[in-house]
Amino acid sequence: MAKKGKQSSYTSPYLRVGLIGNPVAHSYSPRFQQAALDALGIPARYELWQTPATQLLERVRSLCHKDCLGANVTIPHKEAVLPLLDKIDPLAERIGAVNTIVHDDDDYLYGYNTDAPGLLHALLEHGIGNMDTQGHISLQGYTAILLGAGGAARGAAFGLAGAKVERLIILNRHLERAQLLAADIQQTYEGPVFSLSDPSFLIPHSSSIIINATSVGMHEDVSPLPAEVLARFDADTFVYDMIYNPMQTHLLLQARTMGLRAANGLSMLLHQGALSFTLWTCRPAPIEVMRAALM
Ligand code: NAP
Repeated sequence: MAKKGKQSSYTSPYLRVGLIGNPVAHSYSPRFQQAALDALGIPARYELWQTPATQLLERVRSLCHKDCLGANVTIPHKEAVLPLLDKIDPLAERIGAVNTIVHDDDDYLYGYNTDAPGLLHALLEHGIGNMDTQGHISLQGYTAILLGAGGAARGAAFGLAGAKVERLIILNRHLERAQLLAADIQQTYEGPVFSLSDPSFLIPHSSSIIINATSVGMHEDVSPLPAEVLARFDADTFVYDMIYNPMQTHLLLQARTMGLRAANGLSMLLHQGALSFTLWTCRPAPIEVMRAALM
């Protein structure tokens, strides 16, 4: 879908954009989005819009106000907003989740998913993959091991498949969920997709990327992958944990102790936010300003 957003000059003295979710108070987004708006002199405020499910329709309708650029959407509304929008980007449609709404000049509300490309941009920043002259990121030659099959994993799986990973292995506690996600991916992805629930069946491949898209490690000091399984992987394995709070999860500590390259989810948060920013404003996001505000 063509890039939307406010292409006209800013006529309102005070514009708004915000985060729709429940809860939202913990979010890092206002920090770096506001820094970006201020850095480019865009007269807008990034707000937190705590929204229970019963008020979602009303909240989404409020985005049609002329002073509103759009919104980010987070848990638990990423799927529920789809039928409330006018147009959905094909990637967001396939994923079945929207994390960015753009209120365009034509007064329509457009839904996008920047989590999936945000992950690819984060991997690229960590030296994983290549970008061609048209801005497409390729992960050809890599094996992706995706831990989880929830909302974040779903976006990641479509992003990884779109970047043409060599093979995709989905490992989830509940096998049926991994199998369902694998079946969805296989409708458009030509490479092999495997689903597992027992990590001991993981077969290591060279050039592996292990991505934690479960919430394991966020609240307790535990890892989604037993150390003996991780120890089987080659030295060129890259471990990415979507969790960024805590900054170093048990999985990242395990990986670093074994000498593997590893990174937390701050870079994905940054890049999904930067992509959302550009969709709202049609301006390149000031990435380094946003990064500094996150640190
Ligand atoms: P979700 O839809 O609730 O999915 C949770 C996933 O974690 C499921 O695969 C679930 O497995 C698994 N899980 C939960 N508890 C488990 C346990 N005790 N043992 C094994 N597996 C367990 O959540 P989500 O929205 O996908 O978010 C997942 C994580 O990604 C969160 O930590 C979130 O903060 C992070 N995230 C980060 C970014 C970023 O920008 N860095 C963006 C989005 C999400 P079952 O299916 O078997 O229940």
